[in-house]
Amino acid sequence: MGIAGICYAEILHQNKKSFYIIDNNQNGSSKIAAGIINPTVLKRYNMTWKGKEFYENAIKFYSNIENKYEKKIIYKHDILKVFTSISDQNNWAIASNKIQLSEFLESKIQTKKIKGLITEYGYGLVKKCARISTDNLISTFKNNLKDKYIKQDFDYNKLFYDNKKVIYKNIIAENILFCEGYSVVNNPFFKKFTCKRLKR
Ligand SMILES: Cc1cc2nc3c(=O)[nH]c(=O)nc-3n(C[C@H](O)[C@H](O)[C@H](O)COP(=O)(O)OP(=O)(O)OC[C@H]3O[C@@H](n4cnc5c(N)ncnc54)[C@H](O)[C@@H]3O)c2cc1C
Repeated sequence: MGIAGICYAEILHQNKKSFYIIDNNQNGSSKIAAGIINPTVLKRYNMTWKGKEFYENAIKFYSNIENKYEKKIIYKHDILKVFTSISDQNNWAIASNKIQLSEFLESKIQTKKIKGLITEYGYGLVKKCARISTDNLISTFKNNLKDKYIKQDFDYNKLFYDNKKVIYKNIIAENILFCEGYSVVNNPFFKKFTCKRLKR
């Protein structure tokens, strides 16, 4: 299971919709992701697309999951942006005064030494960030939604569409949603889009 499928399944579950998750338990990105939630782009000093909105929703969403399944999933902490020059410091000072960013970037340049880090030019704090334990998230879902989880390779040849229903083996459903991460390149239904992308 990957994070996209889990989030979608959780919303369906909250809305009392029936569903199945078909997953082959292979190596998806979610298993190795750092799980960082940071709404700012520190390379360009701006917000990610809809950064604040996504940030607030993500914190709320994962906190709810934590409470519901009684498992630690979200760890709140700051991120350090280490400066490598005076101009880095200047850029930080300007960015931390921008209306959108000031909520997240602490304007004061930090100088306290940190063992193992070269901080000759100091560093900045990105406040209110968080890390998701993707391991805990995935295992919690697997344990709690056992009856919805079918461990197998999805066989695209066995998928049919009939009378506005999706039919896959012995499952008849209203909709099907693919949350297969980078494996989408193997999905024949998205060939048109993935081929275009790969050509670039
Ligand atoms: C090293 C690394 C670090 C990252 N760090 C961060 C970070 O800090 N913060 C952040 O926001 N993002 C981070 N990302 C990006 C993030 O991990 C991905 O965007 C996210 O995990 C994608 O989730 P997904 O559910 O779409 O796909 P995936 O996690 O890849 O899940 C896809 C699932 O589909 C299953 N599957 C695929 N094909 C089939 C099939 N034919 N049949 C059955 N099952 C199938 C797979 O087994 C897998 O479980 C990082 C990515 C990497 C690689």
